[in-house]
Amino acid sequence: MSRWKRAQQAAADQGIDALLITPGADLRYLTGYVALPLERLTCLVLPSSGDPTLVVPALERAAAVASGIDVQIATWNETEDPFALVASLVGDAHTIGVDDHMWASRVFALGAALPEADQVLGGSIVQDLRIRKDAEETVALREAGLAIDRVHQRMGEWLRPGRTEREVGADIAAAILTEHVTCDFVIVGSGPNGASPHHEVSDRVIEVGDPVVVDIGGTTAAGYCSDSTRNYLAGGQVPAEYAQFYDVLLEAQTAQREHARPGVTAESVDLVGRQIIADAGYGDLFIHRTGHGIGQETHEEPYIVEGSELVLTEGMAFSIEPGIYVEGRFGARIEDIAICTADGLEVFNNTPRELVIL
Ligand code: ZN
Ligand code: ZN
Ligand code: ZN
Repeated sequence: MSRWKRAQQAAADQGIDALLITPGADLRYLTGYVALPLERLTCLVLPSSGDPTLVVPALERAAAVASGIDVQIATWNETEDPFALVASLVGDAHTIGVDDHMWASRVFALGAALPEADQVLGGSIVQDLRIRKDAEETVALREAGLAIDRVHQRMGEWLRPGRTEREVGADIAAAILTEHVTCDFVIVGSGPNGASPHHEVSDRVIEVGDPVVVDIGGTTAAGYCSDSTRNYLAGGQVPAEYAQFYDVLLEAQTAQREHARPGVTAESVDLVGRQIIADAGYGDLFIHRTGHGIGQETHEEPYIVEGSELVLTEGMAFSIEPGIYVEGRFGARIEDIAICTADGLEVFNNTPRELVIL
C-alpha cells in the first residue's frame, strides 16, 4: 500500500477528515516530492477517503511532475488565492489535521478559509508511519552509515596539532560531500570545546594531547541521513582523568547497544547507560538524552529519552550517543546509528569506538 494510503487510513481511524501537508519531510515521505519551502503555497490535501491532490503554484508544476508523484495536481496562478483552492478541495471536512511544521501564517490563513472546520495537529499520523523504516529505507540508512564511516576512517589525513578546528572541519565537509549529496553538520570540538555538545568549529588551534570530539553527518542521494561521533587524540598523552571517564562512557554505550531491541522501552535504553555513568560518579556530566530517531531527517521520532515509555519495535532507527562533558576541559561522546531488527539490533556505524590516537 502506498504511504499516502496508509496515512489516509490512520487519519480515518483518528477521526481526521483531511490532512494538509506543506513542504518538508512529511510531504517528501508521502509523495517523494522534495518541494522548496517557498512563500508561495504548496500543500498536499489528503482526504481520509478519496483521491489526494497536491496544490502547487503554476510555476512549480513541472518540478512536481518531474518528482514522479502519484497524486493529481491542482495549480494556482499568481493572482489567485491558494487557500481558497485548498478550501474547495477540503470541501465539508470537519476536522482538519495540519502538519506539525506548517508555518503559523498558513495555519491562520487556512483557518480563515475554512471557518467551519476544526484544526488539529496531524503530524503524529505521518510520524507513526515514518518511525518504522521499511526494507528500502533500512538499506538507505545502512548505506548512509557506511558513507560516514568512510569519512571517519580518513580522519588522520586532516586532524593534526597546529591546525584549527575550522581547517579540519572544512576538509571533513569536503569528504562528506564525496560520500553524500549534502553535508548537514560538522562538529570538531577540541579540548575544552569538546565539552559543548553542539559546538561546531572555531579558530581554536588543536594542540598535542587534545581530545577531539568529531560528530558529523550528511544526507545521501537516497535522501537518508548519517550521523556518527568518534573521539580522537591529536598525538601526545591521554589526560589521565579523560582516560578514566572514557572507559566508563564506552562501557555505557556498549551496554546500551546490547540492551536496545524490540520490546524494550526507549527510556530503558537511556537508563541502562545513564546508570553506569552515574555509578562511576559522572552522572551530572551526561547532560543530554541518549538519542534521536533518524531517517529523512537527522532528528525525528523515536527519541531515546528518560520518560519515554515507547516500546521499540522492528524498523525503528535511532542514535545511541551518550556523552560525558567536563566544562572548561574536555568532553567525549560515542554515537552510532542503529535499527531494531525482528529480534535484535543492527548497528550501522562500525569504526572503532575506542579513543583513536592519530
Ligand atoms: Zn545532537
Ligand atoms: Zn545524533
Ligand atoms: Zn551526531
